[in-house]
Amino acid sequence: MVTTHAGAGLLLALPVALLVPELAPVAGLAAFAGGAFPDLDMLVGQHRRTLHYPALGWVPAVPAGAAAIVAPGPVTVAVALFLLAAALHAVSDAFDGGLADRPWEQESERAVYYHVGDRWLPPRGWVRYDGAPEDFGLSAVLLVPGLFLYGDLVTSLSLGGLVVAAVYTAVRKRLPDVALEFIQ
Ligand SMILES: [Zn+2]
Repeated sequence: MVTTHAGAGLLLALPVALLVPELAPVAGLAAFAGGAFPDLDMLVGQHRRTLHYPALGWVPAVPAGAAAIVAPGPVTVAVALFLLAAALHAVSDAFDGGLADRPWEQESERAVYYHVGDRWLPPRGWVRYDGAPEDFGLSAVLLVPGLFLYGDLVTSLSLGGLVVAAVYTAVRKRLPDVALEFIQ
């Protein structure tokens, strides 16, 4: 789920927080935002396709990462971590149960769209579905450093992320019925 991706993005910012603490706030914010960003295609376009680039995402992210290492500054670090976290998000969407109305009941063939091959990548099922208890566990572990290492804004975002993750996990299996009521 989106909070797990935001937490995974924060993990990428950890070396910055440890090695260049003065850049920690901008690094943490960019990583958190980049980790969450691809899921905006739930609102616009096709989810797990329009803003998810599991292969092409690395094309700008890797040089941006190299630039941030060569010339670390607020802009290079922010751009690199945003792009790296977004690319990691797209790849890791292949690790859950895939897209389905009720992914805990149905076999899905579609995890995330692979633009280069013009096809959907199949789900691996390492996390059974988004919002599964193990997904919450991942969110919780990954967001904990965000409470301490990146300044006040990221602390608030991480705290908010933990609350959202807990609520989403608690109501996840009821969401398809709620959505149905909205449509009817
Ligand atoms: Zn996603």
